[in-house]
Amino acid sequence: MEAQISALEERELEIMYAIDASRQRFKTAEAELKQNITGHESRIASLSERTTSLTSELAEVSAELATTREPIAARVLRLYDRISSRQMPVCVPLSGGKCGGCHLKVSSEVDSAARSKANDDELPTCDQCGRLVYLES
Ligand SMILES: [Zn+2]
Repeated sequence: MEAQISALEERELEIMYAIDASRQRFKTAEAELKQNITGHESRIASLSERTTSLTSELAEVSAELATTREPIAARVLRLYDRISSRQMPVCVPLSGGKCGGCHLKVSSEVDSAARSKANDDELPTCDQCGRLVYLES
């Protein structure tokens, strides 16, 4: 009976050591995770500040864009928006009869339309890529 009690007490000690070791590992892991959480919270706060700043910048730029677009004819804006949704830059110079965007030769009609600056109703566009073309002065 005494031998059994002694074995049980030894087993009890082993379990208590195991509990202590587990508790220590838990504390270490908890401290590490708390540090990670603090780091993430600080990053979230910094990103939130950046979001606020960029949102306000976006609002300013959007207002500026709306003001800039106001005097431009709707037809021209539609053309610009259509081209810009596919490719950038929208306006490219003609050089030696070649489009500055796709570098292909444009037709003589487009070339002469780009040369005659008198007619603002006809905005010359590249036959190949559709970008607005102009002559560099
Ligand atoms: Zn082109």
